[in-house]
Amino acid sequence: MCFKKYVVFRDALKLITKNEVLNKLTNFFDTKIEFLKGVGPHKAALLNKELKIFTFADLIQFYPFRYEDRTEFYKISEVTQQIRSLADSMPLLQIKGKIRYLNTIGQRKQKRLVANFFDDTGEIELVWFRGLQWINLKPNVEYVIFGKPTLYNNKINIAHPEYELFESNEKSGYIQPVYHTTERLSSRFLGSKAIAKLQERLIELAKPQIRETLTEHIINSFSLISKKDALSNIHFPKDHDLLKKAGFRLKFEELFYIQLGLLMNKRKRKAELSGQIFKHVPTLNDFYHHHLPFQLTNAQKKVIKEIYTDMSSGRQMNRLLQGDVGSGKTIVAFIASLTAIDNNAQSCLMAPTEILAEQHYNVLKKYADKLGLNIGKLTGSTKKSERKILFEQLSSGDLNIIVGTHALLEEQVQFKNLGFCIIDEQHRFGVAQRARLWEKSSSSSGSGKVYPHILVMTATPIPRTLAMTLYGDLDTSVIDEMPPGRKPVTTVHRYDKSRLRVFGFLKEQIKKGRQAYIVYPLIEESEKMDYKDLIDGYESIRQAFPEYHVSMVHGRMNPKDKEFEMQRFVKGETKIMVATTVIEVGVDIPNASVMIIESAERFGLSTLHQLRGRVGRGADQSYCILMTGYKLSSESRTRIETMVRTNNGFEIADIDLKLRGPGNLMGTQQSGVLDLLIADLAQDAAILQTARQAAQYLLVKDPSLQNPENHNIQKHISSLKKNTVNWSRIS
Ligand code: ADP
Ligand code: MG
Repeated sequence: MCFKKYVVFRDALKLITKNEVLNKLTNFFDTKIEFLKGVGPHKAALLNKELKIFTFADLIQFYPFRYEDRTEFYKISEVTQQIRSLADSMPLLQIKGKIRYLNTIGQRKQKRLVANFFDDTGEIELVWFRGLQWINLKPNVEYVIFGKPTLYNNKINIAHPEYELFESNEKSGYIQPVYHTTERLSSRFLGSKAIAKLQERLIELAKPQIRETLTEHIINSFSLISKKDALSNIHFPKDHDLLKKAGFRLKFEELFYIQLGLLMNKRKRKAELSGQIFKHVPTLNDFYHHHLPFQLTNAQKKVIKEIYTDMSSGRQMNRLLQGDVGSGKTIVAFIASLTAIDNNAQSCLMAPTEILAEQHYNVLKKYADKLGLNIGKLTGSTKKSERKILFEQLSSGDLNIIVGTHALLEEQVQFKNLGFCIIDEQHRFGVAQRARLWEKSSSSSGSGKVYPHILVMTATPIPRTLAMTLYGDLDTSVIDEMPPGRKPVTTVHRYDKSRLRVFGFLKEQIKKGRQAYIVYPLIEESEKMDYKDLIDGYESIRQAFPEYHVSMVHGRMNPKDKEFEMQRFVKGETKIMVATTVIEVGVDIPNASVMIIESAERFGLSTLHQLRGRVGRGADQSYCILMTGYKLSSESRTRIETMVRTNNGFEIADIDLKLRGPGNLMGTQQSGVLDLLIADLAQDAAILQTARQAAQYLLVKDPSLQNPENHNIQKHISSLKKNTVNWSRIS
């Protein structure tokens, strides 16, 4: 549990007990963990350090990550039957029986303890290789053993089983929680079992203090179990059904409060925050009627309409624009900017990298020049003298559009009247940064501050559950249609061994007049080696294609050289571009129709999809060739197979989420929203949907949560609001 979670839950529980009547109990969940019986200062220090568990609240919210089923006893004959078909996928299971005899066999490193264990249906071996001196088993007493049976030399054995005396009057069977722990903790007697003991103690103490955090109406509508039952059953499930219900209840609650927060903020902003009213459209009309470089797709038109409606409404726009690679988001962003410019406001576009800023700038400049608009670019490498001019033009209002990177967030950047802000997010900007842009404008209406309209664009689609959580406070527009005439890219997987044949194919394509990218991985930890791979690759390609010029672009080059090489490729002087992933977002060259990705297994799905999006932009059939070695992890194989199977970015995004889990998707880490304690955005899409609907319904019925029956919720929120990341990100 990270610190953020700690804050969330400390406060969540603080709130539960904040009820005046129970005021003196407020401190119960805040009690330092060392005061739990069996912990003490030493273990407390370890729990603080290793698991970030500081208080009772932290511990009770430290949920098991899996369970062992000890509700049933297996017969040895059943194990014998199953192990033939299940082999390695045999589950951990428990058997009741007795020890016939024990033998220590082998010498030194080979030394092991073997026990013959039997029940009324057969016998198996139990084996220990380590810690033999601690094993204390007696013949002819009934034990329950627990472990994973394997087949060795045609005999069934269980290595290092857990064992316990069977006492028939004790609980007959149970589900054992398993907690994450660390080596350090295990070696200091704080393994999973020990943590379970502490939980047991804590839950007994806590039961009378646990208050309900949802309303009766919600609990009934979704057949939820109470908070108290949920907490108790998530740690010590009475049975499988209750475990499921406890999980559902806690996940529902977690997602419900996030959604409620997002939706409340959205409502609040809609009601309170004004945006400038942009109603004049002369330049926009001019562009639309005389300068459009192509006909817009219906999807683009639809989205432009949605944006215009927002920007002319007088309410601040906060909109997410999603569209697959190549769906044409840039021109939509430009047209939206014109709405601001036509009404004496400025607009800015913030990109996550210099190369992307550069590309946007070049595209937008072409459009802007036709209309006589002033456009500037500000990045980390903009010279001081240029900066000075830019800053002046921004504050005087001479500059209509500025494109840039994080540099736009610097203090000195002050607009005369920032009316519209586009964030090309690529999942890379934190929420705090988004918020800072709001403060950039010096303009204000009579009554108070007027915020710029905000459009967030994602580079590739993101899964629905993530969008709902990361951007649940935004309105959404989707470009769900590709410009006409695009041929889907043909994607194939080839092993390194076939490289000569791939080169042969490449030669044919170049003869036909096409150009190609060959991309090498560049991952920071092994930057040196990657660099070497790239250079080696470059050399071998030059040798394989002596008749053509080859370009190379990588992150270590200075921007001038990079630009020079890029231009040679753009002009068609070079036919092959050898590059690292800098190309991912860098270029738009319709004549390039082959994308070869080396060591493709090392790229994430969204990067692969982005890279593939660099080809397929012209009229010719394009190809994406994924090169890998023979050895592939099952995850890499799924990624490659997915790429070969589909061109659909939305589908790819969903698979990416399932494979990697939300926490590992690019850049999502900075967002506290995804530090979920129990819900999992890859697994719990249905619960998320339900929770969001419940939150929506609640707000329709009782927007200000004044109704006494919503008292629990009202109280819970006001406490959450104070400190948590989840809420502060949007307020
Ligand atoms: P992305 O959504 O990935 O940012 P871009 O805005 O870069 O896509 O557009 C991809 C390419 O498609 C560009 O070359 C752009 O000029 C072109 N394009 C965009 N919209 C259309 C359209 N309606 N008809 C034809 N080409 C288009
Ligand atoms: Mg783009």
